Amino acid sequence: MRPEILFPLFSDVNRLAGVGPAVKKSIARLLGSRDPLSVPTRDLLFHLPQGVIDRRKSPSLAEAKEGDVVTYVVTVESHHPPAGGKFNRKSPYKVLCRIGQDYIAVVFFNARADFITNALPEGEQRVVSGSLERYGPLAQITHPDVIARVDELEQVMQLEPVYGLTAGMSNRQLRKIIKLAQAKLPELPDWLEDAHKKRENWQSWKDTLLAAHTPQDMAQLLPDSTHRRRLAYDELLANQLALSIVRQQMKRRAGIALASSGALKEQALALLPFALTGAQERTLGEIEADLQGGERMLRLLQGDVGSGKTVVALLSMLHAVEAGKQAALMAPTELLARQHGKFIIGLCEKLGINAVLLTGGAKNKAYQQTLEAIKSGEAQVAIGTHALFQEKVEFKDLGLAVIDEQHRFGVEQRRMLVEKSENTHLLVMTATPIPRTLVMAAFGDMDSSQLNEKPSGRKEIATKAVPISRAEDVLQGIGRALEKGEKVYWICPLIEEAEEESMTPDLAAAQARYVEFTHRFGKATALVHGRMHEKERNAAMAGFAGNEFKLLVATTVVEVGVDVPEATVMVIEHAERFGLSQLHQLRGRVGRSDKASSCILLYDDNCGEVAKARIRVLRESNDGFRIAEEDYKLRGAGDILGTRQSGLPAFHFADMQYHYSELKTAHDDVKLIMHRDPRLTGERGKALRCLLYLFNHDANIRLLEAG
Ligand code: ADP
Ligand code: MG
Repeated sequence: MRPEILFPLFSDVNRLAGVGPAVKKSIARLLGSRDPLSVPTRDLLFHLPQGVIDRRKSPSLAEAKEGDVVTYVVTVESHHPPAGGKFNRKSPYKVLCRIGQDYIAVVFFNARADFITNALPEGEQRVVSGSLERYGPLAQITHPDVIARVDELEQVMQLEPVYGLTAGMSNRQLRKIIKLAQAKLPELPDWLEDAHKKRENWQSWKDTLLAAHTPQDMAQLLPDSTHRRRLAYDELLANQLALSIVRQQMKRRAGIALASSGALKEQALALLPFALTGAQERTLGEIEADLQGGERMLRLLQGDVGSGKTVVALLSMLHAVEAGKQAALMAPTELLARQHGKFIIGLCEKLGINAVLLTGGAKNKAYQQTLEAIKSGEAQVAIGTHALFQEKVEFKDLGLAVIDEQHRFGVEQRRMLVEKSENTHLLVMTATPIPRTLVMAAFGDMDSSQLNEKPSGRKEIATKAVPISRAEDVLQGIGRALEKGEKVYWICPLIEEAEEESMTPDLAAAQARYVEFTHRFGKATALVHGRMHEKERNAAMAGFAGNEFKLLVATTVVEVGVDVPEATVMVIEHAERFGLSQLHQLRGRVGRSDKASSCILLYDDNCGEVAKARIRVLRESNDGFRIAEEDYKLRGAGDILGTRQSGLPAFHFADMQYHYSELKTAHDDVKLIMHRDPRLTGERGKALRCLLYLFNHDANIRLLEAG
């Protein structure tokens, strides 16, 4: 249970004065709340200012410069409504005010007259603050940010934090609400060691958060400022601690040592048309050592597109099979599951191993039979989508589970996996090159292996950028390639992110191309897209992998893992609309054999500089890691993996571009903590539990209790 001391932070914002349903709705929109019906006060307090306005200055009117933010006590002299009473852009409502001997005009272009007469009654003194303008000889303030009574002067003449806002909400209003929330901030037991705080010049958590809301200058708003760094540190500490608890829990249930003589592996190697690369040998060695040791494996296998992860997975699974266990491989899409199935089942047949592919609906008879075979243990190897784990598929004795394209799996799902599968060894594979700086935050709980070498004989993919105005040249080139018997991918433009869900515009674009190309290039053209019926899509893919189709028009469904080694040309239409890593993934569909391959990035002649810079990176590099780092620089971490599907936690304060050293320190700090007090029962341990609750890692505390 969440400690009582945190209750005020998790109480709903509607408990704050002035927050009715409408305001709450705005706040939820502003914060991007997952559940707009319950918005904890904490989230509001985690919304830090982006700017600061200094209202402390009242220079003499002679000295004041245009654009300065100024605050004056003025005496209201006279009101000058525009002629005819109606005022607009051209003729404003002016209020003439006096500061000592000088005059200043306060100007309104659209406001109700009664509002103005109430706010600035003739003959009285008021505080006015805003940015100074000059209109002819007269100084003026148009639509002052603040009009207040003289006794409020002190409150106005301050450094005013400026918050990110949403429609229908003013900074003053939000500030007032956040101030109320601040009053609820509890003093929490500190989870940091005094020495650490001293070294960094950090205050308590409460004081830090308060200070972050009252910046004294612009520098304090930067991610590397003292306050922001502590907040980021705390968040990363919670993140690393949560991951570490998952890992501890997993290691506590001893893994089953899987012994294997390696005989099956030798037979399989003899059947493969190639020898393993050095990197494949090395990573396989790391995996085998894990499988044979007494601990349960939780390993990430990272390898750029085309580095040959599937074979490593297969040989690892054979290790488990030889040890008398079942092994499973899960792919993110049915398309990929089928492709893996084709390769693996084919090979297993020759080895006398019973491998099955579980696809299709539960109503299917074959599906039911396959389920039975998995349950009885008759099926030694099972291949399917992630549903293999998510739904009620029962294994007799699952020794190893391999999850392909792990980047679509969040930390949360991984925790569920660990909890669900008693002592199964886990290998997760990703082709999304994750920048080195991010691995720790997203996968800090896992061991990791890297396939940093491509199979030999691969030619560099020649990447060209061509403006769309010259698409005809490209089409002629495709014609020639097809005549030579080469296979070509044509990737259709990605339409706006928001529209993507419906898929319709993508679909329309793809269909239009398909019709056009069928006319131009003939019947050997096929189309695949996400909305297509499963069966048709598989047939189209199979036809392209075989000899039926030579030109495949596709949406991004071919992005992940599709393997047709004979394909040598890829054209990506409107390349400027794709993310760098995504382009790299797509491009990885060619260059999968010893034939020379090319990738043509068709870009909009009018696209912006950033888009051009991205395309340049891709043209210059074939190294997925470098591309990922560049992408990261250009777009930030959330985007690169698409936070929703990346497994990368969405951080409030931490930004890996700035806080990598905090992350590393937190990582080390956690190691020490888990060594000294693995169950977090000591005094600091209790404070750390509070930290975990603060960042919503409640489930990890349950793990701690369960172990
Ligand atoms: P990815 O890492 O992107 O999943 P795949 O496992 O699909 O890559 O492998 C890409 C292609 O490379 C496949 O056609 C596969 O058969 C081939 N391949 C894998 N390992 C080697 C190797 N050692 N030598 C030559 N080709 C290989
Ligand atoms: Mg793959």
